Parts: sequence; structure tokens; C-alpha cells
Amino acid sequence: MIVQKFGGTSVKDANMIKIVSNIIKSNVKNEPKVVVSALEGVTDYLKNLANIAFFSNDYKEVKIAMDNLKERHLKVINELQVEDNILEKDFAELENVLKGIFYLKELNQKILDKVMSFGEIFSAKIVAEYLNRIGIKSKAYMAYDIGFITDSNFGNAEILDEAEYKIREAFKYIHEDVSVITGYIAKNKKNEITTLGRGGSDYTATILGAALNVEEIQIWTDVDGIMTADPKIVKNARSIDEVSYQEASELAFFGAKVLHPKTILPVIKKNIPIKIMNTYNLSFKGTKILNETANYRGPKSIACKKEISVINVYNPNMFLTHGFLFELFKIFEDLKIPVDLVSTSEVNISITVDKIYQLEEVIEELKKIGYIDIKSKMSSISLVGEGIAGLPGIASRVFSTLGDRINIEMISAGASKISLSFVVKQCDLIESVNLLHNEFFGE
Ligand code: ASP
Ligand code: MG
Repeated sequence: MIVQKFGGTSVKDANMIKIVSNIIKSNVKNEPKVVVSALEGVTDYLKNLANIAFFSNDYKEVKIAMDNLKERHLKVINELQVEDNILEKDFAELENVLKGIFYLKELNQKILDKVMSFGEIFSAKIVAEYLNRIGIKSKAYMAYDIGFITDSNFGNAEILDEAEYKIREAFKYIHEDVSVITGYIAKNKKNEITTLGRGGSDYTATILGAALNVEEIQIWTDVDGIMTADPKIVKNARSIDEVSYQEASELAFFGAKVLHPKTILPVIKKNIPIKIMNTYNLSFKGTKILNETANYRGPKSIACKKEISVINVYNPNMFLTHGFLFELFKIFEDLKIPVDLVSTSEVNISITVDKIYQLEEVIEELKKIGYIDIKSKMSSISLVGEGIAGLPGIASRVFSTLGDRINIEMISAGASKISLSFVVKQCDLIESVNLLHNEFFGE
């Protein structure tokens, strides 16, 4: 048994759904459990649609935006020549939710999750229907009907431990050749829709794979697997054959976009290999993510995060005294803002935070415990590879490669044995990554 997950670009139109269906068809003997994302761009579109309903005073505007979404899906349905009423009920339900937002002028993360869940519902039903049309017995399953149960942290819900058992139980009663499961969405115990965070379909795939103890989880995307750097930044970036679970997690955490950061967690204990495949390049053999890779030690890839902020806290009196660090991190914890990198000196502590978080509140709180300085428009660059921390001279190699031209604003090493991260100004990002790529991965 295997899991095959197809991302939004892999199911973006009728033509791609045909390609995906062929990939599934040629794997039927492996009993594929298929997980799909929404058609490319649809989740963003749904978010926008909710906002239109909330802000607009003219329902016609909501209707037009809704009709566009319907049309996009109906075009795919028609081109695939499947029954054209398969989404009718879901369209009607979405429209009712939008009416609710429009008339009540209420919108919160819980309602957003409900609206944003429709993308995967639409895509799963279309793909399952098309598989049937080409002769593969198939059915669409809503993840929440087959055991995907989460907490109530809407927008970024966490799967509950009991899900594993529930998923396994549910599959005892699933007998189609191919089941197509909605990625990204779930429900809490109150039967309310939740989502696993943007890009969360990867996470659905590995939760499913771990619960069913499959032989392999394939993540089908639109690039040649995990590469030595983002090919949009470095022209001669190359794909990598194998990375370890740790390396893949670290790369995702530090900004490589191929995998959702939580993807690896469910499979580590069960030691299930993940393979990243390219729907747009079927000759690509894939990047394998495994427990142990061939014994290569050293840098494997460069990840980066754009538009982060560096917050510097300075307190000459209290620093490193009892309780200061605790107080500082408690502020971030209480406001649910994850800290990415940390670096300390005798009287300073520097912290980086992703651009998606609002910082006003955290700054107000931090001002109570020290002097604050914030630098925005920064980027973090992380060199990732097993054993990096033990490699002599690696930091100095980074420094001398970047030379006098590029100022390293902050450096964070040692916290993880397999990465070395530092911060440069956003405007220096592309040059820095290219210089480093050339130094560590150049021919
Ligand atoms: N459709 C969701 C998103 O765009 C989940 C996913 O694609 O993995 O974030
Ligand atoms: Mg994705």
C-alpha cells in the first residue's frame, strides 16, 4: 500500500488531472491512497471570497466572485467529461456560508476554515469521478469522515493522537481500488471544520501513511524534488537524491517550500520513506527522504526565508540573570508567535520571527523587560546537512565567502547539529545564496 499526494499545481486543470490519473492508474497494484490539494490558487481565492462577503455591501459582488469559482471547476468537469452535477450541493452550501458572512458581517478564523475547506472537497470529488470514468473504481472521502480529528486551533489545527486509530478503523470499511482523500481539512470534536495550516495536504498524506503503515508516501509536486537551493534564486541548483528526515524537516522549517514543515513528524517513528516526485517531469526519479542516508556529511542544501524581522532585546542588568530568558520566551509563547532563530551575547538576545506574524503586541510586552530594536526586511539563510555542526571551519567559510560586501546581521549555530543559519538584509539575499551555492555546491 502507498500514499500518493498531489499538490495544487498537479491538479490545476483537466489536462493535469488526466496526467495525475495516469500516474495513479499505473500504480493501482500498489493500492494507492490518494490525497489531493485544491486546484492551484483556489484556497487563496476562497479566502478572498470570504473577505468580499464580509466587506462588500452589494451581494452582486459576492455572486460574481462565486460564479467565477464555479465556472473554473465546471470547465474542468466538462473537459473531463464527467457528470456535471457532482459539486452542485457543495456549491450551494458554500454560497449559503457566504450569505451568512455577508448578512451577519461576521468573519473569524473558524468561518474562514469552513470556507477554505471547499477547495479540497471540490478537487477530491472531481479526481475520484474522473478515475471512475477511466475505469478505476474510486470514491472521494472527506478526511473528517475517516478519522481526521483535530484540536480547535482553527487555521493551524493539530491532529489528535486518537486520529491514528480512527483512520485505521475507517479504512477497514473502504474497499474501492482507489480512495481519494481531501488534504488540508479535518474536524474538531464539536464537528466543526478545521484546517491543518497552509500547505497542510502534505501533512494529511503523512498522517494517513503513518496510520496505515504504508510502504511509501509519494508527494507529487511541480519541481524536481528537494534541491541544493531554490531554483528561482540559483539557476544551477541541482536536485538531491536522498535526504534524512532531520534534513528534510530542517529545510522545510527554514523556508524550503517543497514540504510543509510538519510533514515528516508522523513517519519518523514508523520509518516510512517519503519520495518527492515531479508531476511535470515524469523522468525525474525523485528525492527520497529516509531515516539514514548514505554516509555523506556536510552541507546538502541552502534554504531561505524572506521578509523576516529581527528583534533585538537589550537589558544590561537582567540579562542571563535568573528567569529573564524564561520571561522573554513566555511573551512569545503567550502570544502564540513562533521564534525561528535565537542568538545571544552577553547583554543582547536576538530573535527572528516570520513575516506572517503581527508584532505590535509582542513589542509592547518586550518593552517591559528591555530595550528593543527591530529590523525588518531581513532574510534568513540556512545551510543544512547532517554533521554540519561538527565540520571545522564551516562558519568561517561562510563568512569569507560573503566577504566584506555582505554584512551578516545575526548568526545562529549549534542549536541544531545539522544547520547553520544567519541573517542578511533582504536586498543581499539573492547574491548571498548564489555565492554560498557556488562555494559549497559549485562544480
Ligand atoms: N490547499 C491548501 C493550501 O493551498 C493546502 C495544500 O495545498 O496543501 O494551502
Ligand atoms: Mg504544497
